[in-house]
Amino acid sequence: MGTYRKELTYHTKTRRAYINITRDVEAALAESGIREGLCLVNAMHITASVFINDNESGLHHDFERWLEKLAPEKPYDQYDHNGYEDNADAHLKRSVMGREVVVAVTDGKLDFGTWEQIFYGEFDGMRDKRVLVKIIGASE
Ligand code: ZN
Repeated sequence: MGTYRKELTYHTKTRRAYINITRDVEAALAESGIREGLCLVNAMHITASVFINDNESGLHHDFERWLEKLAPEKPYDQYDHNGYEDNADAHLKRSVMGREVVVAVTDGKLDFGTWEQIFYGEFDGMRDKRVLVKIIGASE
């Protein structure tokens, strides 16, 4: 059985952003040489998410509005966490959108449903943040 590990780094220009990272994960899978197995992709920060959904910009605006209703960024003083920080909303948004995804690897490809794509959800950006890709399986 083979294993492969890679860290991807993202640095958004805005506090919140949704990035399609499917191509980056596919490149990691190709580098790994693994043909059959499992691919884990997780945010390494507690204010960011990795999730699978549709690559449709309207939906991403809907996520943004929905998450802002659930956990508005401001006013900052509405949150107990915001004593020395201002990112309580980002922790809550990450909890809703999840930490990681696991995708089956079949015949050297990510075994997606028709419209599935992998996204990085940033909720407290404008700095380097890491995503872990771990792939385990057989090379042939
Ligand atoms: Zn915090």
